Amino acid sequence: MNKPAIPNSFRTGPDEQGMFGIFGGRFVAETLMPLILDLERHWNEVKDDPDFKAELTDLSTHYAGRPSKLYFAEGLTRHLREVSSAKGLGGGAKVYFKREDLNHTGSHKINNCLGQILLAKRMGKKRIIAETGAGQHGVASATVAARFGFPCVVYMGATDVARQSPNVFRMKLLGAEVRPVTAGHGTLKDAMNEALRDWVTNVEDTYYLIGTAAGPHPYPELVRDFQSVIGIEARAQILEQEGRLPDTIIAAVGGGSNAIGLFHPFLDDRSVKIIGIEAGGRGLDGIEHCASMNAGAPGVLHGNRTYLLQNADGQIMDGHSISAGLDYPGVGPEHSWLRDSGRVDYVPILDDEALEAFQLTTRVEGIIPALESAHAIAHAVKIVPAMDKDQIVIVNLSGRGDKDVHTVANMLGMEI
Ligand SMILES: *Cc1c(COP(=O)(O)O)cnc(C)c1O
Repeated sequence: MNKPAIPNSFRTGPDEQGMFGIFGGRFVAETLMPLILDLERHWNEVKDDPDFKAELTDLSTHYAGRPSKLYFAEGLTRHLREVSSAKGLGGGAKVYFKREDLNHTGSHKINNCLGQILLAKRMGKKRIIAETGAGQHGVASATVAARFGFPCVVYMGATDVARQSPNVFRMKLLGAEVRPVTAGHGTLKDAMNEALRDWVTNVEDTYYLIGTAAGPHPYPELVRDFQSVIGIEARAQILEQEGRLPDTIIAAVGGGSNAIGLFHPFLDDRSVKIIGIEAGGRGLDGIEHCASMNAGAPGVLHGNRTYLLQNADGQIMDGHSISAGLDYPGVGPEHSWLRDSGRVDYVPILDDEALEAFQLTTRVEGIIPALESAHAIAHAVKIVPAMDKDQIVIVNLSGRGDKDVHTVANMLGMEI
């Protein structure tokens, strides 16, 4: 494969067509095009508007609880130094957690939802639609819709509705209508198709609040920009706390929004190694994983070209992960471009490894991480013992793990 030329900056994309190299774009039905262009026009108006920024900052501060802390994970660091000594390495980098788990609704998803609900308000929209897999983005969308008084419809695969009943109930409490989608396998991919269909038929009044840095342009860009608050804060915080940049930063990649949010402000700091973690599930040999960048191929889904899990006929496959937030069969297009350009490494972590890191973090830090975030921690557990003591690693703790305790109990053969 031809590697794209190394650009002067990795932070300038996408181009006017919404392309990151050969990835991204807007592969949508003609009927959707006017909506996409209208969204793009409004986005271009607000993205540098000081009033819009001030309103978002105020909500982020007083409603969501930002800035999130950059926490020195002393317990995990000590543990990994012991592992390093036991192996005769005598090292072990300092590990920091970026605490997105402390945000209102328990993850980074609120950053994106607050930004997009303000955009919807600016556009004069009257109704919010969203897709959700495990229900985390559905809950965050229903939350901001409640806060701003919008009716909200959340499309959710029927299979997911059945297995995520607490989140379905939360959305209902928040006043949202949850519409089960029976098409396909009744999972996230199908819910997203249905949301796009709703959007086309309710052109005038509806805003589609997409949940990750994927979909047609300008969504990957605007979701990235709303989530970049993570990396902007982390970069300033580590400079203040350690007086220098980190050596390595790590985040889990589902659709890729928390990861691109952490990564983007560091992309031009060439000394910083950047690692995205994909769901390796039960291993990359079979089909029970969600490692689209390590075991997929480029194709078009949900309006953009990107790496996807697909069979030999180009049919999109349903992935598997212990973590519901990571089992999207694609990835945001900017990650595909960062992969091919070599700026970011994408590495799979298995279900078992994530489960192990989940338990370890809970015991040595007193923090129950989301299973998604546990994938990122699991990679730190692998690489930190071989690093030097004066090196620094930042792991994005994208969310808290309260939502995952049933899954974990199940995996450990226990009943709650
Ligand atoms: C949804 C979710 C993810 C995965 O989504 P991205 O768009 O890849 O960030 C990761 N962590 C948590 C806690 C989530 O809720």
